[in-house]
Amino acid sequence: MTKTWFADIILPLAVKGRFTYRIPDDIVDIVEPGVRVKVQFGGKKLCSGIVCNIHNKQPLVKNVKSIIAVLDAVPAINKEQLKLWLWISEYYLCSEGEVMKAALPSEECLDSYKPRIETFIKLGTKFSCMELNMILDGLNRAPRQQEVLLTYIRLSEYEEGSEIKTVSKSLLLSEAHSSPNIIDSLVSKGILLSVPIPVSRLSDSDSFQEPVKSLSEAQNVAYESVNLQFKEKDIVLLHGVTSSGKTEIYIHLIEEQLKKGKQVLYMLPEIALTTQIILRLKKHFGAVTGVYHSRFSDREKVEIWRRVSGDDPVNGYRLILGVRSSLFLPFGNLGLIIVDEEHDSSYKQQDPAPRYHARDSAIMLASIHKAKTVLGSASPSIESYNNAVNGKYGLVVLKERFGLIKLPEIVIANTREAYRKKLMVSHFTPELLNAMDEALGKNEQIILFQNRRGFSPYIECSECGWIPVCVQCAVHLTYHKGIGKLVCHYCGYTIGVPSKCGNCHSTGMVTRGFGTEKIEDEIKIVFPAARVARMDQDTTRNKNSFNKIIRAFEDCQIDILIGTQMISKGLDFENLTVVGILNADNLLTYPDFRAHERSFQLMEQVSGRAGRRQKQGKVVIQTSDPSNRIIRLVLRHDYVNMFRMQAEERMTFNYPPFCRMVKISVRHKDRSLVNYYSDILGHDLKEIFGKRVLGPESPVISQVQLWYIKTILVKIERDKSPSKAKQIIIEAIDRLEKEKGASSLRISIDVDPY
Ligand code: ADP
Ligand code: ZN
Ligand code: ZN
Repeated sequence: MTKTWFADIILPLAVKGRFTYRIPDDIVDIVEPGVRVKVQFGGKKLCSGIVCNIHNKQPLVKNVKSIIAVLDAVPAINKEQLKLWLWISEYYLCSEGEVMKAALPSEECLDSYKPRIETFIKLGTKFSCMELNMILDGLNRAPRQQEVLLTYIRLSEYEEGSEIKTVSKSLLLSEAHSSPNIIDSLVSKGILLSVPIPVSRLSDSDSFQEPVKSLSEAQNVAYESVNLQFKEKDIVLLHGVTSSGKTEIYIHLIEEQLKKGKQVLYMLPEIALTTQIILRLKKHFGAVTGVYHSRFSDREKVEIWRRVSGDDPVNGYRLILGVRSSLFLPFGNLGLIIVDEEHDSSYKQQDPAPRYHARDSAIMLASIHKAKTVLGSASPSIESYNNAVNGKYGLVVLKERFGLIKLPEIVIANTREAYRKKLMVSHFTPELLNAMDEALGKNEQIILFQNRRGFSPYIECSECGWIPVCVQCAVHLTYHKGIGKLVCHYCGYTIGVPSKCGNCHSTGMVTRGFGTEKIEDEIKIVFPAARVARMDQDTTRNKNSFNKIIRAFEDCQIDILIGTQMISKGLDFENLTVVGILNADNLLTYPDFRAHERSFQLMEQVSGRAGRRQKQGKVVIQTSDPSNRIIRLVLRHDYVNMFRMQAEERMTFNYPPFCRMVKISVRHKDRSLVNYYSDILGHDLKEIFGKRVLGPESPVISQVQLWYIKTILVKIERDKSPSKAKQIIIEAIDRLEKEKGASSLRISIDVDPY
């Protein structure tokens, strides 16, 4: 008797586990791990899933359904990817189906991938000059056709006897100011020929112009040290101050891998993936360099996918410059992953699941490929630095800037005192204004950083203190002057600006606090001759506006650029000498155990933009609390002591990296029910974990889009098994979900919340 075969399949569902289907005999030969198959799930619903493994163990359930069809001739997903998905789902407590949804480009596109076809035009036959002239004469009474033919001859640089060249149809049309039917008539006469040619959807330049730069002595020592430590360790943390030339070191490491025939993944935070860095790499590595971010269309993503996987051997990508999700590309042959700005919180996916950390998942992906990982930062995360100090990671330190330019001088400006002495001009201290004046006088450029967009964070009734809030979220509405509206930054809810107080009907509504829009307005008044621009989410909604602003700044068409954290990363401007941080207080007072670490990192990053090429830059930090310990540390660019101080605090109060954390969020549209159910879960967890459970608590934003939120934190000791603890948490949530009425809850789990 022949055996019956079964396949365990991942389906794109939030339900845990794999699903077993029978493999019909006639397709046994073509079902293998990694191929996509069509199956029926539940009642009638058809969906496609991925085969993980094949076996002949009869499942316990009766009526096992059969696979309906196989969708791929060769596996769409390789075994390294399947391993990564499994790890993410186990570590971050989500289903493999949720990972699959995040990882795969849209289903239809992968099903039916078609290369883009462009039509090209060429001569029907190798006409001699004489024949061609006769044809042109013959077209005397069809002048528009004649014009097209003449344009073709010009564009194709026709020469008798030499090879016939093609010209893109769209180019021919525009150059000849013609219409398609004119070309069609020439084609139907056999004079011209229309040829379809597959082309790329991606705008690649295959210019390989420059060999990599030679490293400075300090860079070379660092580079050698990375390689030396790789002999013993798989992960090396490169702690190099801003503008020390980390990127150049990466470029050398990449070159080495490409020479070995390996692929490299170079990850960056979304806002750091600028044209500047793309061009910097393409200049050296040319067409093997691919870029991957979330703004590509699905079709473009599929093309990148194929070029990474080796399906396209001619145009294959061997270096990918990508954001968080580039982790999921089908690398076959990774030698190295670089995680630049490894401390950046945007590496952590928030919503929806999988809530993975791309840095930590990259380390896992590298280990699956037996590849190495470089984590790079000017101010590493406490987690990574701690791993380096403990010897788990290698550590390479680069203390000097390239060209031995000094780190920027930091000036602390006391806003409280300046207000008291009436020295403030709008939101600017004398220290900042002086520095700006001086820079403008020398035609140097300035960046002003304010981590809030909009005109003012809220408006308020000057009589009774009433503040307009969002109807769906527990937040104040932000005033945007340009559009004359109040906007919720959490759900987008927008209303006109009320002329009267909603409480006492007084007309004295006033703006409070300031965002980038207000700074832009006021800077124009203070420096009327300066050319001012603003870069934040509001001014960069269009596809190219981000690049336009950067280019204008590069070309010195802007003197003062005001921006949010968008301007903090990766940018390298030659003529920028002064950076102003307008309000350090709202960074430092954020209620999160990482607030101090983050504000140090952000201030270092922003400062790092100043004075990168010729001379030392200057940074003015405005604060009402000049003696703040973090500010004192930024003043000296003292990362190591910042680390020590934070590590000590976190050890004392038991926070990561000295424990692991799992955050459970319970949401309900009814405030009392969210309280009721989160209390049940809290009690249940406390029975098992005792004091390790914090909460339930209302988060800072306690309602978003009508859903009330309560959070519970579970701290797990480093020496305890995280998988066992996670299992207990899952079981407690299962018990809660079985409570009466609990089906209207939304529960989410966030492992290592960021
Ligand atoms: P980081 O990534 O550490 O912030 P970059 O790699 O951007 O620093 O280097 C800062 C500046 O110095 C850039 O303009 C870069 O082109 C230049 N630079 C760095 N290393 C070299 C080198 N070895 N040769 C020439 N220029 C360099
Ligand atoms: Zn009022
Ligand atoms: Zn809202």
